[in-house]
Amino acid sequence: MELQLQLAVPSPRIDDSQLRAFVRQKLLAGALRETVGHGAVCGVSLGSECAVCGVAIRPGKTEIQTFGATGSHRRYHPKCHRLLTVELEDLTQR
Ligand SMILES: [Zn+2]
Repeated sequence: MELQLQLAVPSPRIDDSQLRAFVRQKLLAGALRETVGHGAVCGVSLGSECAVCGVAIRPGKTEIQTFGATGSHRRYHPKCHRLLTVELEDLTQR
């Protein structure tokens, strides 16, 4: 896989494999790791940006919120958070 870092925001129309590759690149760059594994809650979106894809989570839709050890607070689309969890597990099991 191409491991060169791409920080461009993916289009909302990209498929799962592209989003997974994007998530993996972010994790390999050291981003997002600190908010995984410290608990997550479901909430109702007020329109914040997703920490993974950068696209706004539509108001009223379900969002996942995480709270990192350093006090960071992030919001995700449920699908983006699921991919993040899967990719991080994959990377840390090597
Ligand atoms: Zn997202």
